[in-house]
Amino acid sequence: MAISHYGNKSCDTKTTGNDVVVLVDELLKEATRVGASDIHFEPGGNELSVKFRLDGVLNTVETLPRAISDNVIARLKVLGNLLTYRNDIPQEGRIETNNGSPDVVDRRLSVFPTIYGQRAVVRIFYQNTELTDLEQLGLADQILSTLKHIARANQGILLVTGPAGSGKSTTLAAILRYIQKQFPGKSIVTLEDPVELRLDGVTQVQITPFGPMTFPTALRSLLRQDPEVLMIGEIRDAETAKIAIEAGLTGHLLMSTMHSGRPSAAILRLLEMGIEPYQITSSVSAVLNQRLVRRLCENCKKDNNGDFEAVGCEKCLGTGFKGRMLIAEIMQLDGPLRKAVLARSDCDGLEKMLDEQGHKHILEDGLRFVRQGITTQAELDKVCGSANT
Ligand SMILES: [Zn+2]
Repeated sequence: MAISHYGNKSCDTKTTGNDVVVLVDELLKEATRVGASDIHFEPGGNELSVKFRLDGVLNTVETLPRAISDNVIARLKVLGNLLTYRNDIPQEGRIETNNGSPDVVDRRLSVFPTIYGQRAVVRIFYQNTELTDLEQLGLADQILSTLKHIARANQGILLVTGPAGSGKSTTLAAILRYIQKQFPGKSIVTLEDPVELRLDGVTQVQITPFGPMTFPTALRSLLRQDPEVLMIGEIRDAETAKIAIEAGLTGHLLMSTMHSGRPSAAILRLLEMGIEPYQITSSVSAVLNQRLVRRLCENCKKDNNGDFEAVGCEKCLGTGFKGRMLIAEIMQLDGPLRKAVLARSDCDGLEKMLDEQGHKHILEDGLRFVRQGITTQAELDKVCGSANT
């Protein structure tokens, strides 16, 4: 699928430095225009593939000649303030967002050496202007009522899990807005990396991953500011996990995200980070695991007697899909599960217990959209494939 053809004009014969500057600039602009979440620059033996992640899926948009690969990566490194003369080490930086795209709040660049040269990924963070109410997320009734119950509590921890780009920040923002409406005046503070959604009446703090304001340092100081509700962008290290658990145990309602494929895996990850089982059972209220499944393009989807198929048209850039839907499952840490966590049960043990309790798996939740012809079984299987890891 080709979205545009910058390569043709810029790279046929001799490529000047200026051509590469224009090329990279156009790629960055085009990615933002189509709403890509990431741009991949992947060097191969003879070419440099440029891919956009759209609705969660990578699509090749450009195949550039190998000859200009180094120049393209070098240009990105200049934009990201990285060391252009070091090609042998991984580097991370950010590309300033003053290119006339007010929707973009941050662009992170990561460069990595491979046998074919350097590979670069630009992750684009958008200002999410569409505020979604908790009721509008499309969650199943049981999950919605559990989340509301947790949001009304004065303490405890809600963890939201799923891979990058699975809509976790949108869900958390919706819960924060629900709390604001239910309890006007409650002190709500967020620590984010970066702040993707501006919320009126909420104190939002931007973490500087390459600077002094990291999650643990900010969180520790913040607890002295007497917040009632805390949202931490992500628990990625043991130090943050420890402070978060303490906060959840001492009269704060804390919400955060973790990278894990299954709800039980989030608990295991906390254990691996050195959190004691009793600290988990007395602080964590629930784990919400979620994914986004692509919605079939209404313009081109094919109905085979109620069995819908993705086709592809102009409107969906040939992918057959347009937009995404939220699917989820929730694990509450109650009675038998608590005992299993205290006994340091492994992932399979916890999952087995969930099954016995009639837990509704995320795949089951997604089936309702397959039945309604909103997505396909294949899409659901693909998205939930990582649910078993
Ligand atoms: Zn279409």
